[in-house]
Amino acid sequence: MRHETIRKPSLSEFPVAPNLRDWAAERKTFSWDAIAKECRGLPGGGLNKGFECIDRHVLEGRGGKTALRWESKEGTIETFTFAQAKEATDRIGNLLRGLGVARGDRIFVFLERVPELYWTVFGTLKAGGVAGPLFSAFGPEAIRDRVADSEAKVLVTSTTLIDRVREIRNELPALQHVLVTNRARVPFFPQAGESSFEEAYGRASAAFEIEPTRPEDFSIMHYTSGTTGKPKGAVHWHRAILGQRHTARVCLDLHPEDVYWCTADPGWVTGTSYGMFGPWSLGVTQVVYEGPFDAERWYSVLERHGVTVWYSAPTAIRMLMKAGKEAASKSDLSRVRFCASVGEPLNPEAIVWAQDALGKTFHDNWWQTETGCIQISNYAAMDVRPGSMGRPIPGTEAAVIDASGKEVPAGQEGDLALKPGWPSMYRTYWKKKELYDSRFKNGWYITGDRAWKDEDGYFWFVGRADDVIKTAGHLVGPFEVESALVEHPAVAEAAVIGKPDPERYEIIKAFVSLRAGCVPSDALKAEIANFVRNRLAAHAYPREIEFLPGLPKTRSGKIMRRLLKARELGLPEGDTSTLEE
Ligand code: ATP
Ligand code: MG
Repeated sequence: MRHETIRKPSLSEFPVAPNLRDWAAERKTFSWDAIAKECRGLPGGGLNKGFECIDRHVLEGRGGKTALRWESKEGTIETFTFAQAKEATDRIGNLLRGLGVARGDRIFVFLERVPELYWTVFGTLKAGGVAGPLFSAFGPEAIRDRVADSEAKVLVTSTTLIDRVREIRNELPALQHVLVTNRARVPFFPQAGESSFEEAYGRASAAFEIEPTRPEDFSIMHYTSGTTGKPKGAVHWHRAILGQRHTARVCLDLHPEDVYWCTADPGWVTGTSYGMFGPWSLGVTQVVYEGPFDAERWYSVLERHGVTVWYSAPTAIRMLMKAGKEAASKSDLSRVRFCASVGEPLNPEAIVWAQDALGKTFHDNWWQTETGCIQISNYAAMDVRPGSMGRPIPGTEAAVIDASGKEVPAGQEGDLALKPGWPSMYRTYWKKKELYDSRFKNGWYITGDRAWKDEDGYFWFVGRADDVIKTAGHLVGPFEVESALVEHPAVAEAAVIGKPDPERYEIIKAFVSLRAGCVPSDALKAEIANFVRNRLAAHAYPREIEFLPGLPKTRSGKIMRRLLKARELGLPEGDTSTLEE
């Protein structure tokens, strides 16, 4: 079912003039060279993300501006100016150099969402290292897989997380130093190879020369979310800052005076591309909240810090929906001007709900760890079609293609593909060059997602290529069925898979978690199945429904359909290192 298009006011009625006003015109005149010129570059030549995001602001007289407003779980607030950020990252750069870190060495960071995490990533970049942030909820195996695969030389962690590292320490031969922060101020007894972060920081000089990195030097590596299989280490270069800067401006509509909150953890690419690089390259003040999701607390963070631009994810919006409209009514959200979402398909139902409950429009955008920056987006000044990911950014060519690499006509489904060459495209999968090469075919980068494009150039997500269901001669994308399911008032979340069937090849099976207070029953199953049948085609409704208390998700909040399928078929579960507990 199509939802009504959300019409945007005319340009003169926007409270703040949108950065991208005319999508079609700006795509025609756009050039990456112009964005490259906006980057300052290192004084002696070269490009470094740390310099672009921090030092340049100090050099250009903005050192006194707030870079970070950090709120701890307990509610204490710490603020850092760009000048303070420069000093912290200079000292960490020196500290790492003192440990023998040289250009290209991997420095992994396994910390809660605390300021040290941010400064260590930038200290690493400024010292020429390659940063690898790890999500703080990872268990020992997940840490081992990533630190071993990347052959990281240094790991920065905390006294609260060190036990998980110690469990697997002897399986990490390349790891030379473990630096341990101690915000918790608990007694710390270093073991071999471990030392106090604060002591080393205290000794490090603040006089620092940034490593003269070139645009093509590696800067950061992120392991993917593990939704479709074993996480892969996508490696990015310093030049990626061009894509992140450009899209932070046109897709997130960031202006220098904005106060911006990206809810993603830096363990995932959204938390660095848009929780560090894009916004700070534009000199925007960022808010970081250390704690986990909690509806009322999140609303209060928005109010307390005067957030104007908010970037979050479908899973969080669905949780806000679960918490209800009342949770929002206790906070004043009037300063929030622009909201965006990424990570999974954003069900139209969620957009419609947020409009009603919060009075805000969530702008969906699409990208991947591999793409380094947003590729397809709903823009501030553009009408939003709920359920669509929006239109390609100026600077990217996106298409829906068939197996031979030919573009298919509007309305037809195919592989979502991008023309290689945008500046933040990943450079390799770490130690998996063949897999990397296999993603490029017929002059396209094949994203692994299925989509279709409408007559006006809006892209619509169908599902992961692996998740598309073949039933009775039809191809059915899980997203469409799931979106219809969540429109039923009893359904909180839904995931569908193709279940082998002798007659139909596959049937659609839905896993459904109900809203609080709804009682599972066979009658409800039949009602839900019928509800979907009436909305979609007769072949696209779930012939089987199973109620689950919750759906398995990655730690970044994505539904793991492959796990539901493996469990359904009694097959091995594969890599579960990113499974949320
Ligand atoms: P893995 O590659 O390990 O299986 P992953 O693909 O989930 O995990 P990410 O790079 O974090 O890892 O996620 C990118 C994917 O998330 C996209 O390829 C797409 O499937 C999905 N995605 C992201 N944003 C959107 C969106 N706005 N609409 C639909 N899907 C999205
Ligand atoms: Mg992927």
